[in-house]
Amino acid sequence: MVTFLSGGTGTPKLLAGAQSVFDPAETTVVGNTGDDVELGGLLVCPDIDTVLFEQGDVLDRERWWGIADDTTETHGELRDLAESVGLEPGPRYLPEAAQTEGRDIARWRRFSGIAEFMEIGDRDRAIHLTRTSLLDEGRSLTEVTRLLAAALDVPVDVVPMSDDPVASIVHTAASKKEDEDEDENEDETGADYPDEMHFQEFWVAHRADPAVERVEFRGADSAEPSPAALGAIEEGPVVVGPSNPVTSIGPIAAIDGLREALESATVVAVSPFVEDEVFSGPAAKLMEAVGYEPSTRGVATAYDFADAFVLDDADGTDLDRPVVRTDTRMDDEADAERVAEAVVDALDARGVA
Ligand code: GDP
Repeated sequence: MVTFLSGGTGTPKLLAGAQSVFDPAETTVVGNTGDDVELGGLLVCPDIDTVLFEQGDVLDRERWWGIADDTTETHGELRDLAESVGLEPGPRYLPEAAQTEGRDIARWRRFSGIAEFMEIGDRDRAIHLTRTSLLDEGRSLTEVTRLLAAALDVPVDVVPMSDDPVASIVHTAASKKEDEDEDENEDETGADYPDEMHFQEFWVAHRADPAVERVEFRGADSAEPSPAALGAIEEGPVVVGPSNPVTSIGPIAAIDGLREALESATVVAVSPFVEDEVFSGPAAKLMEAVGYEPSTRGVATAYDFADAFVLDDADGTDLDRPVVRTDTRMDDEADAERVAEAVVDALDARGVA
């Protein structure tokens, strides 16, 4: 058995070439749900969906999200309707009271569907509609995720980290302006960013522009691990694919039971950096904001539960734990297979594989 922890890019890329190295029937993928939002009443799970679409062979591999060749009729109509009567595109949060009403799983990240700030394809929307309806019929997110995986012929077991709500909230540095003349927390229109926003507002609507003070995983203190995720991590070994340590692995490690299980399991992590160069995304900025060096060294500090690392050939970082080096750039399945083999070597170094 092997268990992967996944955000929405690095681990799905690794899984794309892992099947010749790790038997899919023996593989569990635990998905981060801190990035999830409810949009127009539908629960969208971006990280889990990318795993499902990649493993179900329908992923749009150009953008690395959504379904390949999907249409956007409904999304376009939502934008047009709003524009025709002057409704701003948003992100448009539902009123505060509505954030904690209704289905629990969507707490603290509930957005109106008016002019939909995230692009949702038509086939993609059918996934969210099915997911949300099954949740409303009383099933857990774990059960629903497994049903969607079966519908898409996904060969690995995909489960969420928790069946309870955990929302990744970015607190901006609005109150910490260093220079009065240079307001770093303004958008291009000069308007101040809000003091706090959901990660998807930070990333999709503002392209990671706001200065960050801290990141909160709202709900993590009371969230229970999904029993399936906990069991899989306890069984191990665990592979942390290249991920954003703050917003992809942070929410998983913020759930007490999962953190304890990670501390006991054998864990190998693939660095999302080559020394201090990140492959993509806002990992460096977010790590710096929460007090980690934005580099492979900082990843090793954040992953105090990891027992060995896979680093890039060009990454000379000296770590206090075993390291296996390979070319860690993954552009195709052959690249992913090479990195998966390095993961096996790293597990070997820990006497597991
Ligand atoms: P998110 O959910 O989309 O933010 O993505 P993840 O947390 O799954 O992964 C983001 C991290 O993956 C970024 O920090 C990237 O540097 C890293 N990454 C993306 N592509 C590659 C790659 O080909 N190789 C490696 N080693 N890291 C990558």
